[in-house]
Amino acid sequence: MKDSDLPYEYRHVPLDTSNPLIDHDMNLCIVCGRCVRACNEIEGANAITFIERGDRTLIGTSLGGSLSDSGCTFCGACVDVCPVGAITEKDHKWSGAPEKSVTTICSHCSVGCQLELLVKKGRVIRSIADLSGPVNQGNSCGKGKFGYKFVHNEDRISTPYVRKGGELVEATWDEALDLISGQLAEHKGPAFGAVASPRATNEENYLLQKFTRVGMSSNSIDHPDSTCDAESVSTLSDALGVGAMTNGFREMRDARCILVYGSDMTWDHPVAAIQVKEAVNRGATLIVIDPVETELALMATMWLRPVPGAGVAVLAALAKVILDEGIQDQEFIDSQCEGIDALAASLQGSTLESLAALTGVEQDLLLRAARAYASMKPAALFFSASRSVEPGPAIAGAAANLGLITGNVGKASAGVNPLRSDANSQGATDMGCVPSMLPGHASLEDGAGAFAQGWGAELPSGNGLSYSQMTHRRGENGLRALFLSLDSQSEAPDIDTSALSSLDFLVVHDLFFSDTARAADVVLPAASFAEKDGTFTNAERRVQRVNRVVERVGEARTVSEVVAGIASRMGVPGFDFEGPAKVMEEISSLVPAYGGISYDRLGVVGLQWPCPDASHPGTPVLHADGIVRGRGRLQAIDAAPHAVTADPDYPLFVFTGVLREIKGVVDLDGRTRAMVNEDDAASSGISDGDEIEVITRSGALAAVVQVCEYVPAGFIQLAIPHTDTLVQSLNRPPSDVVSRNGARARVVKLAAVVG
Ligand code: SF4
Repeated sequence: MKDSDLPYEYRHVPLDTSNPLIDHDMNLCIVCGRCVRACNEIEGANAITFIERGDRTLIGTSLGGSLSDSGCTFCGACVDVCPVGAITEKDHKWSGAPEKSVTTICSHCSVGCQLELLVKKGRVIRSIADLSGPVNQGNSCGKGKFGYKFVHNEDRISTPYVRKGGELVEATWDEALDLISGQLAEHKGPAFGAVASPRATNEENYLLQKFTRVGMSSNSIDHPDSTCDAESVSTLSDALGVGAMTNGFREMRDARCILVYGSDMTWDHPVAAIQVKEAVNRGATLIVIDPVETELALMATMWLRPVPGAGVAVLAALAKVILDEGIQDQEFIDSQCEGIDALAASLQGSTLESLAALTGVEQDLLLRAARAYASMKPAALFFSASRSVEPGPAIAGAAANLGLITGNVGKASAGVNPLRSDANSQGATDMGCVPSMLPGHASLEDGAGAFAQGWGAELPSGNGLSYSQMTHRRGENGLRALFLSLDSQSEAPDIDTSALSSLDFLVVHDLFFSDTARAADVVLPAASFAEKDGTFTNAERRVQRVNRVVERVGEARTVSEVVAGIASRMGVPGFDFEGPAKVMEEISSLVPAYGGISYDRLGVVGLQWPCPDASHPGTPVLHADGIVRGRGRLQAIDAAPHAVTADPDYPLFVFTGVLREIKGVVDLDGRTRAMVNEDDAASSGISDGDEIEVITRSGALAAVVQVCEYVPAGFIQLAIPHTDTLVQSLNRPPSDVVSRNGARARVVKLAAVVG
């Protein structure tokens, strides 16, 4: 091989290894600019750019600071496109060539990005966003790019444990399953409950709920995503014919108006947020309704910032303006909807003035937002209940009303779109992990006949207990034995462990020990997403294959295997499947929306339900292809602000904002800032600058106090540095993490401000 004739001069640029995730060696850079284009044109982060000029041109951050300070989202697109290794993943830059690559689905959020996981010596060494992924098309976020390391974390539970003499001691699977089946045989009926994981596969969750109903005669099966609790799903189903997103993520870039309610999308659903940013680049109007200052709020055309608890009242105000000004889509309402009189009547008692006063949002802003949403079509609406104090069904109903009265349903790039929290939240709901619904969102009454026949068993009647009734027990509710399938890969479960102490028997199946696992009678090692086969259903109803990438840690097992082991010991038939493909065959034979699905048909891009075949006509749904089957149902709306009830042990309600530090603009000094109202600061005995610990039921977090006016009494807003949170989610943090928005907290002063 001939040496290059081109001159080469070593640049003597110091290596930048200061970032916890990405290293820069600009001596290798050939200034092709691919990283800058990926950062600016695809991710929309504008974190890196060309610095210097002429033959000194190189890549750096625009203000010369660190990547963490630059607005970098750590999506890793720059790493993937750099052809020379000038920008590399810190952890695996010396790992060499992988031995194999397996395509699977990210386990972190409900966008459902397809990833290539590269494997060497039995370990995942790299994650690359798959160009053929139907949702992400080559994009991922920091969680998808770097957030696989928990799979190989040395703290993973690797063997079963049973409690003996008050202590949890290692046990064999046979010992653990014998103990569980013996105990469960004594706790059939309403005494038993199970919690499914929104990160477990459809096949696992289907079998867990089937076992709960058929094997244990209980409907107490639920999962913890508050955006798709039973009531919210049935509210949306009633309104739109579908308890899920009406549209898909990719089409959002062509919306002319996007309304985002209560979602920190750039952190919670980052690749979906890319579509929102792209729509804004193309000229779309962005309306954000959120009491918290999110990244999208900062870039919005209009940010409506209600007082906490008054978000639904803002949606009511928008509906009122639209109807009062006559800018609704009357033709769509007349031809496709029912219930307009009930909605109009429910708004009659309010005036714009009163709603503005209730919500704390100026009248002019309410007027402008309503006019924009009604007139700039197609208009898409995204909402989440996971960061709101308002109940999920109220949000879902008010959101559906807005979509229907403006005719923004049943059209491409529009729709009403709930953002589920976890990778398989939607699937957990679809699979019937809901106390009032059978698989396919069938009501207990309507679906009982078909499922009883399909399963060859009598089904229990009457709603079971919800997730919060099972895990935050207050008083006696009849529950005596609980099976928790947690799969808590990046955060401690939001469970009131002390409330579980009165149970007779608690089983925890999880990846890591938490306070909840330490309180259990039996702890079982769970297989992570990279260690099993199955399917996830993302928020846009796309069922996609999850593929086993590496061997399991220790003796970890899937939920399906655990359930099969218990069922066979209890003599319950119907759980002996030859792998998840066979489970999907049963699902598709019994759940109409999944009727056309088989592993063969799923292929690389998956299928969005309903995907009918000849024998399954699909469920009524108003969706993106403009085919409207069934009528939209408008609902009366209660605009009264939701009262926030106090918990004496944890009096503060937590909003978590993940902020990117930009020195001089947003400067957190790498520390979490806890913003509190003057009254709360006084009653908690804390002052500006004090170091405190924010304690929730699932963990604690150190923070520095900032007393400010705009956080209302009873609330605490945490601004967490972006890099910290991301690094925590990569390795699965110890239990010192405040889990989700909406957690209740109290504060304890660690140190007073100095000086
Ligand atoms: Fe994973 Fe969601 Fe990020 Fe996609 S957007 S890579 S699914 S966390």
